[in-house]
This record gives sequence, structure tokens and C-alpha cells, in this order.
Amino acid sequence: MRSDVIVVGCGPAGSLASLEAARKGVEVLVLEEHKVVGEPDHCAGLVSVSGLKKLGLRVPEECVLNEVYGARFFSPSGIDFTVRRGTPQAFVLDRRAFDKWLASLAHDSGAHIVLGERATSLRVKAGEATVTVKGEWEARGKVVVDAEGCRGKIARLAGLPRPGRRVPAVQYEVTGVDVDRDFVELHFERALAPGFFAWVIPTKDGARIGLGAISQPRKRLEAFMRKRGFSCARIIRRTAGTIITGGPVRRTYASHVVTVGDAAGQVKQTTGGGVVVGGLCAKIAGQVVADAILRDDVSRLVKYQQLWKKILGKEFFYMGLARKFLDKISDRGLDGLFRAIREQGGVEILESYGDMDFEAVALKKLLASPRTLLTAITYMLT
Ligand SMILES: Cc1cc2nc3c(=O)[nH]c(=O)nc-3n(C[C@H](O)[C@H](O)[C@H](O)COP(=O)(O)OP(=O)(O)OC[C@H]3O[C@@H](n4cnc5c(N)ncnc54)[C@H](O)[C@@H]3O)c2cc1C
Repeated sequence: MRSDVIVVGCGPAGSLASLEAARKGVEVLVLEEHKVVGEPDHCAGLVSVSGLKKLGLRVPEECVLNEVYGARFFSPSGIDFTVRRGTPQAFVLDRRAFDKWLASLAHDSGAHIVLGERATSLRVKAGEATVTVKGEWEARGKVVVDAEGCRGKIARLAGLPRPGRRVPAVQYEVTGVDVDRDFVELHFERALAPGFFAWVIPTKDGARIGLGAISQPRKRLEAFMRKRGFSCARIIRRTAGTIITGGPVRRTYASHVVTVGDAAGQVKQTTGGGVVVGGLCAKIAGQVVADAILRDDVSRLVKYQQLWKKILGKEFFYMGLARKFLDKISDRGLDGLFRAIREQGGVEILESYGDMDFEAVALKKLLASPRTLLTAITYMLT
């Protein structure tokens, strides 16, 4: 099979890259290993309203399970603060329905999606890229977009780096729990969730309760559920996945190949959210790839990296610093930091400047508060 562009993976990043490229008039072939788009899913589905707007998406109602107005943050000893706004800040999405809807947009723009076909290898030679599918047939194109998610094997075959630090995560979808439908909860405790945190995300009639940690996430999640008083929750679904916290890879393009979304590490290092930031990068990739093909000049793929860095480079830099800080701080330090944020105007800063996807401004403002900074450094060293 021959096409201008071959997109490997039909998650959000693959669909958004395909949509943009197809809209520009190039032929797009999407390979998805599963027989149904969006399944199996592994995501908490929390996606900011502002981020979806930036992606130019008006999500249909059937993809939205709940709307939340803010977040409650809990320290190891239970010191908490709430960041709230008067309007919905994020949707809790049915990721399976959302992924299917995005794929339908790509299809309607002209992308040809082939399901149940797994890309297994890549060869770049004589001005074209060839992807082998299940080792049985070949798809040839001018550019390959690797949107495989955290596995990202095709990008590795092109010589691109693998995203760095990652944590395993487990999530239970439950009913029979008493949660505030308007707020998500984030619980930070090194002893409980080293390297990440635990979350409670209210859905239509229950919650998604999950935890990421450098080791034993399932055991730790069950300990968290007991601690949070959710022992009697009725578990209706269990999922697991890998959260990338190491930030974007150094290089996201090679000869005839670009990589997008989780495959490129385009995930917020602080929260593990990748739908919006990965989606923004994927849209840029789709446009740059189409442009390179229409001009018959694949050396233009370099523009993809230049453009996403221009929009998100600073964000990834500050979120990376915040992640390093969170990984180092002790539980006692976290308690002190939460107290400092609560007592020294941190909540107001987060309410005024916080943006779920573009966190750099709020992080800089928090660090600009000398007392918060001093507290943070003191506790980090103790
Ligand atoms: C537990 C957990 C909770 C999360 N919660 C959130 C959240 O609340 N909000 C948020 O924004 N992000 C969240 N994320 C991150 C989010 O899920 C990812 O950033 C996002 O799905 C990345 O999209 P993607 O298209 O790059 O990859 P994926 O969504 O992983 O899609 C990749 C697609 O490629 C297909 N594929 C893979 N390899 C091949 C191959 N060789 N050939 C053909 N097809 C292939 C896969 O089947 C899949 O369909 C969470 C992640 C985890 C693990």
C-alpha cells in the first residue's frame, strides 16, 4: 500500500496529526493495532476545557462524563488547599468515546484508517519510508508519523530517543463512593506514591481512583483506598498504564520520520497529562509534514521541532523543574510546602494564574514568592 503519510497509532496524537495533514490535501494512511479505536483505554480522562479549545475541538456531549471546577490538593499529613474557579475547568472524558470521535474527524477529513494492523518495523531508503505491518505486508510513504504512545518502537528504529523517566500506574473505576462531583483530588505522599501521586476523579456516578508510583502501584493504590475510606467501593473496571514524567525527547524528527504525543514524551511532567500538550504538538506535526510533502522537501521536517518548542519548550522546562523538585522533597517538606502555599497567598496565585496545560506562569509566580521559595528549599534539604 502506498500513501504520502503513514501514521502509526490512532490515539489522540495520531488522529490529530492525521486530521491536520489530510485537511491540507495529502494522502494519509493510519495503522492501528487494535480492532477498535480507543480500546483498551488506560487514562483518567481529565482534560482541560481551555486545552480542548486550543486544540480547536468541541467535544460532543456523549464523550463527557462530568465537568469539574477545580482541584483539592492533599499533603501527606492531610494539609489541604483547594483551587477553584466559577466555571468548569476540565472535562472528565470517556476516553474510548473521545478517541473514536477524534478518529472519525480524521476519517471525515480524508485519512484512511486501517484497524487491527500493527506496524512492526521501519526502513528508510531511497527517498521513502517503508513500514512493515505484522511482518506480512508493507506500507510505503514519504513520511512516517510515529504516534504509538509510550512504546514508540518505530521512532527508536528511526534512531530517535526513547522518552526518559516513566512510572507505572493503576486505576480503578468505582461506584459507591462519597466524592465531591465538582473537584478532583490529588494526594501527594512520598511514602504512599513515590515519584507521582494518587488521584480521585469524579465521574457521572462514581470515581476514577488511581495512583502512579515508581514501584508496586496496585498495592499502593489499595493502601490509598483504605486510607481515603474507599474500602467498600464497588470496583467496576481496573486499568493500568505507563505515565511518562521525563519530558519530551531531545529530537523528534529524523529522515522521513517524526514522532508525536507519548512516543515523543510530550506529556506534562507534573501531572502526566498528555492529551492536550501531545495533541498540540501532533497538530503542528500534521501541518509541517503536509507542507514538506506538498513542497517535496522533507528537510522541512525540522520545522516541526522548532514550532512545538516555540510554543511548549518553556512549559516543559518549568514542569521538568517542578517534577525534579517533587521527586526530591520529603513528606515533611511537602507538609511545609502545602502550609506555605495555603498561608502565603499560593492558592490565590494558582487561582489567578493557574492553567492546567500551561503551568509555567503559575510555577514562576509561586517561586517568586520568597517565603514559599525559602520554605521549599529548607524542606527539600531536611
Ligand atoms: C493511568 C493514566 C492516566 C492518565 N490520565 C490522563 C489524564 O487524565 N489526562 C491526560 O491528558 N492524559 C492522561 N494520561 C496520559 C494520556 O493517556 C496520554 O498522554 C495520551 O493517551 C497520549 O496519546 P497518544 O496518541 O500519544 O498515545 P496513545 O493514546 O497511547 O495511543 C497510541 C495508539 O497507537 C496504537 N499503537 C501502538 N503501537 C502501534 C503499532 N506498532 N502499530 C499500530 N498501532 C499501534 C495503540 O493501540 C494506541 O491506539 C494518562 C495516562 C495514564 C497511563
